[in-house]
Amino acid sequence: MTDGTQERINLLGLAPAEMEAFAVGLGEKAFRGRQLLTWLYKRRTGDFDGMTDLGKNFRARLAEVAEIRMPQIVSEHVSADGTRKWLLRAGRSDGREQAIETVFIPELGRGTLCISSQVGCALDCAFCSTGAQGFNRNLTTAEIVGQVWLANDRLGVAADGARAITNIVLMGMGEPLANYKNVLPAMRIFLDDRCFDLSRRRVTLSTSGLVPQIYRLAEDINVALAVSLHAPNDELRNQLVPINRRHPIAELLQACWHYLDAQNGRSITFEYVMLDGVNDQPEHARQLAALLKGHDAKVNLIPFNPFAGSGFRRSAPQAIGYFRDYLNGRGVTATVRRTRGDDIDAACGQLAGRVHDRTTVRLGSKMVSIGVEA
Ligand code: SAH
Ligand code: SF4
Repeated sequence: MTDGTQERINLLGLAPAEMEAFAVGLGEKAFRGRQLLTWLYKRRTGDFDGMTDLGKNFRARLAEVAEIRMPQIVSEHVSADGTRKWLLRAGRSDGREQAIETVFIPELGRGTLCISSQVGCALDCAFCSTGAQGFNRNLTTAEIVGQVWLANDRLGVAADGARAITNIVLMGMGEPLANYKNVLPAMRIFLDDRCFDLSRRRVTLSTSGLVPQIYRLAEDINVALAVSLHAPNDELRNQLVPINRRHPIAELLQACWHYLDAQNGRSITFEYVMLDGVNDQPEHARQLAALLKGHDAKVNLIPFNPFAGSGFRRSAPQAIGYFRDYLNGRGVTATVRRTRGDDIDAACGQLAGRVHDRTTVRLGSKMVSIGVEA
């Protein structure tokens, strides 16, 4: 824990190679960095005193310059269906409070942790409560990794040693590709066998379609990609997902197919929120099938989760069923996402968190900066 008088380095923010460099920087051998990783991620030790195979002097030095700091819990909610939601403090440098959310969704044989990448979001999608709050800041790598560390800590290990978290999805608050420089090392930590050691198909990055960053991702890392399409033509998508005005559908799909080629990926999941009378008509199903037919694409239909003042309604079950069946009939695999944690507002798009002094940046006809950080 920090005493507030000096900045200590939070080790949860260091990718494996950085941890070795960190140890070397303190005058130790590189393998000391690997030992630190083992303590952190395999033994889940949060204090230096417990790291018994590190020399006493090194431990004392670590306590001076470093810390292992998880996000602080504001509140924890458990849903009737077992879904858990944590509201976590994401303070600002001036001490004012803000919060982000992390959600754990247990299912048969797997446990998915949905994590946040930013405090708020600048992209302002019409149906998203995070977007409605505006953007405040990017989370650091330590804050992104810290959500997983904390959830692991709270969930514990089952009696048979099975781990609770088998999948991580970047589908909480924020647009992960707009915080590329902090999200990339976090994903490396999720995949690395010295750290969380998850397979690449079990780490999913969801993006609303920042095309240049998808190309960059294709160079950097192999994870599962989910793309928030939500509309099958530019006219409609311009309204629902404003980033489409900068990167229209054809460009976005090209980037997606490039990602699959470059990373030898299996398929891309296209998320499609079902909005009553807006994007759920038979003609939309036809257009969507035409866009994706013949490609390695799956569609995940998300029943809209309403929030106060959204102005949208969830599509009727019949409309969602028709959409799914139509796509499947055209050879485009489509599934309907089961809504979980409704009673604790933990469902997709309901992760409201708490954002103060937001920087609301709208993409009007004039393109303005959207706070995308390289
Ligand atoms: N910014 C990223 C990831 C976070 S949002 C993205 O947009 O992909 C995760 C998913 O929840 C996205 O597909 C998003 O479009 C969807 N979503 C947002 N608001 C929603 C709502 N109210 N109901 C259902 N899904 C929603
Ligand atoms: Fe941001 Fe994703 Fe919400 Fe759009 S849907 S406003 S990109 S969090």
